[in-house]
Amino acid sequence: MAVTDDRAPATGDATFDSTSPASGELVGTFPVQGPEQVAEAVSRARRAAGWWAGLGFDGRRRRLLAYKALLARRSGELVDLVHRENGKPAADAFVEVLLAVEHLDWVARKAERVLRPRRAASTLVLANHSASVEYQPLGVVGVIGPWNYPVYTPTGAIASALGAGNAVVFKPSELTTAVGRFLADAFAEVVPEQPVLQVVTGDGTTGNALCQAGVDKVSFTGSPATGRKVMAACAERLTPVVLELGGKDAMIVDEDGDVDAAAEQAVWGGMANAGQTCLAIERVYVVDRVYDRFVDRVVELAARVRPGADADADIGPITLPRQLEVIRRQLADAFERGARALVGGPDAVRPPYVDPVVLVDVPEDALVMREETFGPVLPVVRVRDADEAVERANASAYGLGAAVFARRRADHIARALRSGMTSVNSVLTFAGMPSLPFGGVGESGFGRVHGPDGLREFSRSKAITRQRFPLPFAMLSFDRPARLLPAVERAMKLRHARRPRG
Ligand code: NDP
Repeated sequence: MAVTDDRAPATGDATFDSTSPASGELVGTFPVQGPEQVAEAVSRARRAAGWWAGLGFDGRRRRLLAYKALLARRSGELVDLVHRENGKPAADAFVEVLLAVEHLDWVARKAERVLRPRRAASTLVLANHSASVEYQPLGVVGVIGPWNYPVYTPTGAIASALGAGNAVVFKPSELTTAVGRFLADAFAEVVPEQPVLQVVTGDGTTGNALCQAGVDKVSFTGSPATGRKVMAACAERLTPVVLELGGKDAMIVDEDGDVDAAAEQAVWGGMANAGQTCLAIERVYVVDRVYDRFVDRVVELAARVRPGADADADIGPITLPRQLEVIRRQLADAFERGARALVGGPDAVRPPYVDPVVLVDVPEDALVMREETFGPVLPVVRVRDADEAVERANASAYGLGAAVFARRRADHIARALRSGMTSVNSVLTFAGMPSLPFGGVGESGFGRVHGPDGLREFSRSKAITRQRFPLPFAMLSFDRPARLLPAVERAMKLRHARRPRG
């Protein structure tokens, strides 16, 4: 059944359709909302933000738990909608919903512990003052979400922002607007009093309007190119941004790693959701001694991955039609540079699907090694040792996630990788751990959602000092006696001027 959204008046009569990437079936028709309507949504959100903040931790916790419970109860409906609108298999859609529910649960339960006011240490010079820090909501947060994980990804930012006491205006991708609308409608069922979570619908121009609407922070997930536009638009009003801009995640398999487990996880990490995952494994560096065994196993497993729209398909279609051309171009470039396909080949792109591809002998300067592929393509590279693997992995402009399969040197390798997140002996597990921060470095963006860091990302830390009793002579005063500073200088030297030992 298609969704028609007639609640918000459109700019003129402009609307857009959201359709299934697998069948072309109409999923919903929505208004293209322009700057005026976005500004109205933000001003409604501003009023709602005061009410939401005023509920306090306890009031928000109860409502966020009710929201989580409603999503869990209606997960079947949501899974079906994600399957129809995004194209991914129902099982993958279910995993998204599960993770979103877990993140909401964590935020609801832990926000108070992370953000409640805390005392801070005083210092000798200000010994008559006490100090404390509290984390106040920013006000209204704009969330611009992508289509590849239309539930999990925006919910990460939305949960952190709501948990910190903010109202949210959410602009889903035009490819998955029905899912965005579902999320906001469900929230309004459990929080009917005020529009604490609203959706604005449209294309990139609506996203741009949200950046310029005077929100207190924007959390964006998408491509580095659009991330730059978002940051430039936000700069006009000095609106701070959190950017999650995708990755080129590497897996490293060391000589003492579990080769079978690594192969299984490389195929799943690289090809689940048809590779349309910012944290997809897009490069694998395997130490020479285990390389042949690893490649044999990867070929065996990848050859079984089947694209399709039926209930038994492993991966769905490519959601963004123009991505098919990106994948085709990357494959052609790799073959021109001498790469060989052990699974799939030049004909792997069969719109709207892409068959699994395993590549070997790919030079590091090939497009498929440098640019985000967002397709089920797994290049495997032989390296001398783990140090060479780390060096090559770190040569990327991206730095979102990474994975290591190793024993003896696993922690060393995990730390040495230039990434915001790394998993040892698994892939992507950090994304499902609500207590951990999520975000990248370099072209993968900056700022964090999820966990305590995510809650603080959407808060304003406020420092307060309280004078407990006056001193006979105040140093920070025009009335300070002339002899005070020399005395303080002597005290400072006694305390600080000694050279550190060792
Ligand atoms: P974009 O970065 O263009 O889109 C992401 C979100 O930003 C969408 O909601 C989009 O809206 C919105 N948007 C587009 N233009 C603007 C703008 N000027 N101001 C504010 N918001 C805007 O990604 P694409 O969907 O075009 O995908 C391109 C590539 O980006 C992918 O192939 C993939 O490599 C990468 N990507 C990475 C993701 C990740 O998880 N980090 C997620 C999605 C894509 P609308 O969709 O309505 O145009």
